[in-house]
Parts: sequence; structure tokens; C-alpha cells
Amino acid sequence: MANYQTTQRKILFEFLQSNPDVPFSAKEIFEKLSDATISLSAIYRNLASLELYGEISRLIKEGSREGFYQYINSDLCRNSIHLICTNCNKTFHLEPDEMKRMIQRIQKSQGFVVDNSKTILYGTCKYCK
Ligand SMILES: [Zn+2]
Ligand SMILES: [Zn+2]
Repeated sequence: MANYQTTQRKILFEFLQSNPDVPFSAKEIFEKLSDATISLSAIYRNLASLELYGEISRLIKEGSREGFYQYINSDLCRNSIHLICTNCNKTFHLEPDEMKRMIQRIQKSQGFVVDNSKTILYGTCKYCK
């Protein structure tokens, strides 16, 4: 049983990993993985544990109570601040120099050290404005 669960988690993780920076709801994942015979409840359960282990991030989409999950753990992602458009749900990386300047400014004025790998800014992207 434990092994069976691990296999499901692996399928789920590999799916998210192969689509970095794309947020999916549990239901969307369920539809995409319909061949893999993984139940919706198993998806919810495994998403929760992957989130707990810090492998994936859960995002909030405006106007929706559904959680969205995405893999932001690639090397590029780990060193980026993510900008998420609450309209189209697309994710962008903050330009590295811009990010450094912002982090330095906050550290200087607030004495606060921003953990960029955990920071997500929500807003409207240039395509949706
Ligand atoms: Zn990313
Ligand atoms: Zn957008």
C-alpha cells in the first residue's frame, strides 16, 4: 500500500516537474493523468504531501477557492522571484538584476532578508493589462 502511494506521488511529481511554472488545479491534473489511473482523492492527498515537503508550491487564484499547484523548484526557479498573473495564471520570472536591487533595497530599509525562492508577487501581466 505504501509503495502504491509512492508510485502515485511519483507520477504526480513527474507530471508537475515536466511542466515547470505552470499552475494546475487538482482537477486539471486528474484530467491530464486520466491514463495513469490515479484517483482525484489520491491527487489531493499527494499534492498536499508534496507541498509539505516543499517540492511544489500552492498558489491562490483570485476569484477561485480552488488551489493551484506548480513546480517551481528548478535551478532557475529557485533563484527567481515569481510574478503570477491572477488573470491568465501565467508565471513570469522577475528579471535577476531587478530582483537583486529589490532585495537589497528591502534589506537596507527594513533590515529584512527576502527569501526569493519562496516569494511570489501577484498581479496583472503585460498581456492582460
Ligand atoms: Zn519559475
Ligand atoms: Zn496575464
